[in-house]
Amino acid sequence: MEKWQSEYRDSIKTHAALEEFFEAQFPKVDFPLLIPRKFATHIKKAGLDSPLANQFLPQVSENDLGGESDPIGDHNQSPLAQIVHRYENRILFFPTQVCPVICRYCFRKNELGTNDELFKANFEKVLEYLKQHSEINEIIFSGGDPLILSDERIEFYLNEFKKIPHIKFIRFHTRTPIILPSRITENFCKIIENFKKDFLQINFIIHVNHSQEFNEENKVALSLLHAHCSNLLSQSVLLKGVNNSKQALLKLIDELIKLNIRPYYLHHPDKVKGGLHFMLTLEEGRNLYATLRNHLPGWALPQYIIDIPGGEGKVSAYNPETYNFSGHLINRKGTKVPYI
Ligand code: SF4
Repeated sequence: MEKWQSEYRDSIKTHAALEEFFEAQFPKVDFPLLIPRKFATHIKKAGLDSPLANQFLPQVSENDLGGESDPIGDHNQSPLAQIVHRYENRILFFPTQVCPVICRYCFRKNELGTNDELFKANFEKVLEYLKQHSEINEIIFSGGDPLILSDERIEFYLNEFKKIPHIKFIRFHTRTPIILPSRITENFCKIIENFKKDFLQINFIIHVNHSQEFNEENKVALSLLHAHCSNLLSQSVLLKGVNNSKQALLKLIDELIKLNIRPYYLHHPDKVKGGLHFMLTLEEGRNLYATLRNHLPGWALPQYIIDIPGGEGKVSAYNPETYNFSGHLINRKGTKVPYI
């Protein structure tokens, strides 16, 4: 077993272990817990009421009943288990339901770790589907978190995808380099480096929401990933109590740029069951984004986007005409969709 795998195995997973580690009391919630111990030490240093802690430690509001189990309608856009095909040129591929940490705001928090059809092993059929759909040129490894898979497994998938001539782009959406940086080994980097010749581009989308998430160890891992693997881009979720201020977002973007990570996505939060306490209104989000536009060069500005509930996909959450929200979003067909 590799070092990162034993670190992961030793994570805090129970309410009792959490209270013992943090020497504090936490509410019992209906969702599972998981925090690797090194990252938990980092959270402890930041403080239990820090933006960092708010993302990973349970809060009583998680037991609220409002919200959706599948807030972005993945199931409505899934032609078969293990994939979502929402946009013509790309699929989301779910090789695992496992993550390096359990984020309290996660939009898949009601699906991960369950018997959900979306995540059932179905790789042979996925390959058949890809071969029949020559319009697909990008595979987005999602989950769960694909970097929690072993090197051998990642190598296996990439080997299969490289045999399909129309697959040009590979993208990994991952939180692992931040949470479990020991996973970014020399061997993993070599594997990715070897596959660079087989695809037009391999991109890593690093999920990070607050500058407090960075530490010496994950900065080294990100540098290694940048030096040997490929392009790094960011995705962040705008979250109440975490990063919903101009200062927090600008500091995060500064850190991203220092680490050669291009700011890519700023997601408006999804109305997930158990995560409504992280929501902010579209007006609040638009006002914040307008402030960012005044403080950042265009190339450093992430796209502020929102997923239309029900599966219609991402659209811009920013309306430059007005910050007052009209009560509807415009979907990709140009139709108005009510959004309350
Ligand atoms: S790592 Fe991503 S998928 Fe996993 S719990 Fe966090 S937000 Fe959800």
